[in-house]
Amino acid sequence: MTPPMEYIEDYTLAGLSRWLAAEGEKPFRAKQIFQWLYRHMARDFEEMTSVSRAMRAKLAGRFRLGGLERAAVLHSEDGSVKYRFRLPDGNEIETVLMPGASHNTLCVSTQVGCAMGCDFCMTARMGLVRNLTAGEIVQQVVQAARDLPDRAFIRNVVFMGMGEPLHNYDNVVRSIETLSEDNGFGFSGRRLTVSTSGLVPAIRRFIREGVHANLAVSLNAVTDEVRTALMPVNRRWNLEALLAACREFPAESRIRLTFEYVLLGGVNDSLADARRLVKLLHGIKCKVNLIPYNPPPGLPYRPPDLERVRAFQRKLLDHGLLATVRLSRGQDIQAACGQLIAGETAPRGRFARPTRGPIGSAAPVDTVAGG
Ligand code: SAH
Ligand code: SF4
Repeated sequence: MTPPMEYIEDYTLAGLSRWLAAEGEKPFRAKQIFQWLYRHMARDFEEMTSVSRAMRAKLAGRFRLGGLERAAVLHSEDGSVKYRFRLPDGNEIETVLMPGASHNTLCVSTQVGCAMGCDFCMTARMGLVRNLTAGEIVQQVVQAARDLPDRAFIRNVVFMGMGEPLHNYDNVVRSIETLSEDNGFGFSGRRLTVSTSGLVPAIRRFIREGVHANLAVSLNAVTDEVRTALMPVNRRWNLEALLAACREFPAESRIRLTFEYVLLGGVNDSLADARRLVKLLHGIKCKVNLIPYNPPPGLPYRPPDLERVRAFQRKLLDHGLLATVRLSRGQDIQAACGQLIAGETAPRGRFARPTRGPIGSAAPVDTVAGG
């Protein structure tokens, strides 16, 4: 069987230069091609008029350009836009554009589904179907940028859509390299944020390799007991191991470390939890992002009242922790954090996880909604 055609967007500038050199072409042509792909956002090799006809034919014979098909574009009342893209193999992923007063943030997916099985997250219900290629990650940015008056209208890209980015390390890092390239989008590392549920060896590698992007760690609980109940990954790497790795994050750097904390009513939102969080993060230069739970249909948790959220935040601020509250976007179109589940609603991938009841509840909940 012939392998499926690679996307040209799978290639970093260095990779494309190497390919060109091996073909006996001038490696600097890679820059030209990058400009066509990410500055002009060409849809076809034929648009690359500064590239010779022979070269265009060669590229077209070897690579696929693009390949994400828009299955749906949903507009939320609050201005956010959810794209559902169909991949060439029929799988679907979601990407969310969140407009802000001064800038837009794009939330991209890194896998079809996710293997991590967090109990509160809709994507977990799919299990892991497959990794996205670097090109499939980059193309989500291209697709959204095409709808905006200028590429620069996307200021931040957050790797917080479907999937666990550090479980698809190589492709995610490759996509960061491409998004950062000056001949393309030219994102600085401060405008890119990779969010992880806490894969400790991959966090260490990310730090060691100096990947130029912010890191967001989804903490979500302050005791191993609660964290393990919410996030099975904690069984493998507990809070101590996770925070030890986070302490290695370079303090003197333009990129930032953030801890995300999804507030689940009655589960992890007490003032005692807030105090413990302060203790745990003592000595780590970081910011805390509080995310009031977005209840996807069919999952057994509830968000806390806004008052409780504010009290939790105040406790952190009083102890000198920088803490913000991320108010939810796109809830009416199921585009908010943890509500992304594409295509079929039934769990189907490897590691697919049926819905359990809330912590301490004996009653399982079987319904899976969304999609
Ligand atoms: N897999 C990565 C990135 C995708 S999830 C991670 O877990 O970090 C992005 C963020 O959404 C995480 O912080 C996760 O804890 C949070 N999240 C998941 N489901 C949610 C929900 N239903 N409501 C609010 N936040 C949710
Ligand atoms: Fe995966 Fe993140 Fe959802 Fe956990 S919260 S299941 S790691 S996408």
